[in-house]
Amino acid sequence: MVSEQLRPHGVTDERVLEAMASVPREEFLAPRMRRHAYEDRALAIECGQTISQPLVVALMIQAAAPRPDGIALEVGTGSGYAAAVLSRLCRKLFTVEREPALAEHASETLRRLGFDNVEVAVGDGTLGWPAEAPYDVILVAAAALGVPQPLLDQLSEGGRLVIPVATSADEPQDLRVYVRRNGDVSYRSLFPVLFVPLRPG
Ligand code: SAH
Repeated sequence: MVSEQLRPHGVTDERVLEAMASVPREEFLAPRMRRHAYEDRALAIECGQTISQPLVVALMIQAAAPRPDGIALEVGTGSGYAAAVLSRLCRKLFTVEREPALAEHASETLRRLGFDNVEVAVGDGTLGWPAEAPYDVILVAAAALGVPQPLLDQLSEGGRLVIPVATSADEPQDLRVYVRRNGDVSYRSLFPVLFVPLRPG
């Protein structure tokens, strides 16, 4: 994965590569999907959702630039795979999933594999997780039509929010990094992506 899918496609941060190499993707898949675990693509999980392509997970985390002493929020836990990778690169990770079955399964997988600095909650991630804010890093694994204001509000000074933003229903989404500096928020676009929709409520 590291030498064929990640390094040649722009993942240069050695800490991110190390974290990607250390997380067994097959453990986050249903048994019948495990033989596909190291293919360079998104794969189906429960509830009609997907586990992201490893390259996209790595590039999102690299763009978010987590620090070992920072705290992070993920919206859209899904299988828990991206949470596992990100948790290796920060002090504490909070992750919110709206589907109770996915949250429960991800939480169980993370616990079983020893990712003990991750907390999973069931809820609407468009509201963020105000109780633990602010966050140095926020990663959103589903596409929104606009950026939910609570997520911008919950970014720390210098904090980075990585989110796929949909501009129209039938075009790829724009993966963006928002940065908060001196109270102002600005963004840069990374590349087009295709994520499942971020559903409010
Ligand atoms: N990071 C995941 C991929 C998740 S796919 C992984 O590594 O497996 C996106 C996830 O976002 C889905 O599980 C979907 O149920 C969830 N989701 C969609 N809208 C949401 C919302 N408003 N709040 C929290 N989770 C949401």
